[in-house]
Amino acid sequence: MTPFSRKVASMLRVLLRRYPVRNWARGRHPFDVLVSIVLSQATTDVNADRAMRQLRKLTRVTPKDLALFPVRKLARAIRVAGLSKQKAPRIQALAKEVIRRYGGDLLRLRNLDTKEARRELRSLTGIGPKTADVWLNLVLNREVVPLDTHIWRVSRRWGFRTKDYDRLSEKLAHLLPGRRRQQGHLAIIAFGREYCQARRPRCLSCPLADGCPSRKRFVNAGRAKV
Ligand code: SF4
Repeated sequence: MTPFSRKVASMLRVLLRRYPVRNWARGRHPFDVLVSIVLSQATTDVNADRAMRQLRKLTRVTPKDLALFPVRKLARAIRVAGLSKQKAPRIQALAKEVIRRYGGDLLRLRNLDTKEARRELRSLTGIGPKTADVWLNLVLNREVVPLDTHIWRVSRRWGFRTKDYDRLSEKLAHLLPGRRRQQGHLAIIAFGREYCQARRPRCLSCPLADGCPSRKRFVNAGRAKV
């Protein structure tokens, strides 16, 4: 391990201790989880949750139900999550595709190894690398590290330079202990929200300040807060 990797691994251990986050997808229908992740694209979790609640008042969120659900009504239900005119037809197309390819049962992907399952998911309508990995991580408990906007930002500040999704995801996965990868991704997100915020990070009270190469830059620029 390089000194850089050792330092990041030790910062990740701090986050794992600090954020014992729970898997919000546990006990939910696998397709319902996928729709939640799609809805959370380009909006906040709060708005995505609101949209899901609205949708569940009108229908069960399964491939069968959504394949037949009027798309306009679907767009109205999820409006709070933004881009509803694009998201609604995409979700319906996804429902139909899941029926056609897996008989409506996404859990069939359980039989594939992680690489294949990733490839399958990424080939579905509207499913990019992040959405696929969040689903694999939360539903199939696969040891992948999905990258969302918080994780990209925090990683950059820690000193990662790559802009390649798969490369960064693999690097972080490599630095997290196997069984903790699921928690690791949620812990970095929680940390990004609480401390390493986009505009004015809380470097002055950050638990990782000692190891972070960006702290000085934010402090000198007067952008760091407590
Ligand atoms: S010291 Fe600042 S930039 Fe570095 S991880 Fe903490 S909050 Fe983020």
